[in-house]
This record gives sequence, structure tokens and C-alpha cells, in this order.
Amino acid sequence: MPFPDLAVRVTELRGRISAAVERGGHGQSVKIIAVTKTHGPDAVDAAWSVGLHDVGENRVQEALRKMEAVRSPVRWHLIGHLQRNKVSALSRFDLLHALDSSRLADAVHAFGLAQERPVDALLQVNVVGETSKGGFALPDVPAEAGRLVGLHGVRIVGVMTMAPFDADEAILRTVFAGARRARELVLAAGHPATELSMGMSNDYEIAVEEGATMVRLGTALFGARAA
Ligand SMILES: *Cc1c(COP(=O)(O)O)cnc(C)c1O
Repeated sequence: MPFPDLAVRVTELRGRISAAVERGGHGQSVKIIAVTKTHGPDAVDAAWSVGLHDVGENRVQEALRKMEAVRSPVRWHLIGHLQRNKVSALSRFDLLHALDSSRLADAVHAFGLAQERPVDALLQVNVVGETSKGGFALPDVPAEAGRLVGLHGVRIVGVMTMAPFDADEAILRTVFAGARRARELVLAAGHPATELSMGMSNDYEIAVEEGATMVRLGTALFGARAA
């Protein structure tokens, strides 16, 4: 069996997540999104077999190929940037985490109308203005959230963010608390925004302390990626 220590790792991660929920005091429940990018379909089936029913992929083509080979009925999350000419792939995903621009939102809305089923998405926020990453700056969130209320092809069910790699704890807390604030703004605009997708293998405990409801874990589950 591939990934023989996966069950042990999941038990350990769930324990750490519970402890972080306690420390943070937000009382949320936390879903692990198993990030299987660069791994084969066997990683997805291994995740399913240890009770991880949500899988994250950051590239559309890789994800679609993997879906063909996977038998487990996992929920597929698209966690990476989506090009506007590939929005039709959203019919294969349960949740888009990276709604990162108004133009993409317009394209997703149009696709949701065309398929007569709104697309569930998270608004990506870029709290400290990293130019290498997409997403909305906090001051732009209220206006965009207000605009999106009128776009019935997309349903904003929460907020997603990525912290700078290797940032110190103070920066991480600023980023994650900023995303939590963004979720309040999105909720106040009238969206059913309950989810907060933040935290990866190196920073998930702080993200959970700050209120994450979804953590996206790759390395912590499957080990270092070759690519
Ligand atoms: C790869 C990736 C992750 C997982 O990263 P790890 O550090 O391996 O846990 C999470 N989120 C996004 C958007 C990713 O691309």
C-alpha cells in the first residue's frame, strides 16, 4: 500500500488541529483538504481510505487526468489559480478556493448561469499585498463582495488566503486575522460565507488558532513533493 504511515499522520494532525482550536477559542470545526498535486491517483485513494474525503489540486489539467483514474468518491477542491478560458472545468469541482479577480468572477458567474447551477467559490484575499500572489486587498473586499451579490452564477461561501512562505508568527497572525475579517465583510454583504480556507503544512496550527475551517495539507500528509 502506498503512503503506509498516512493513517498515523492523520491521527497526529487531527490531534494538533483540535489543540489549536482549543487555544484559539473560535470553536470551529476544521476540515482537512488533502493536497494531492504532483502525486498519482493512489494518493487520492489512500486519502479516502483514511477518512479524508476532500482533495485539493492546484492545476486543472492534472486534476482532470487524476479524476479519470480515481475510484473513491472524494470531493474535489480547485485550490490554485484558474484561467478564465478554463472555467468550464468547474463542473468537475465541488469548490473553487481561488476566486482572485473581478474578471474571473464574471467568467465563473457566466459559467454558473450557463450550467444552471451556481458555482461555489471562496474569495481569495491578499492581506499583505504580496505581488507574487493574486487576490483582493482588504480595502477592496466590501465593494467586490457587494458587486458579487448580484452575480447569481456564483455563490461566495467563504474566504481563502495564502500566507507568505516562511513568514514569522506575527506576520502569519496578521494575514490570518485579516482573512477572518474579510469573511465578516463578505458575510455582511449578504453571502453565505462560513468557510475560512487557510493554513498549509508549515503554518496550519496558527491558521486554526485564528479560525480556519479548512486547512490545505500536502507535505504533512504525503511527504515532500518531487516536483
Ligand atoms: C501546494 C498547496 C498547498 C499545500 O502545501 P503543503 O505545504 O505541501 O501543505 C496548499 N495550498 C495551495 C494553494 C497549494 O498550492
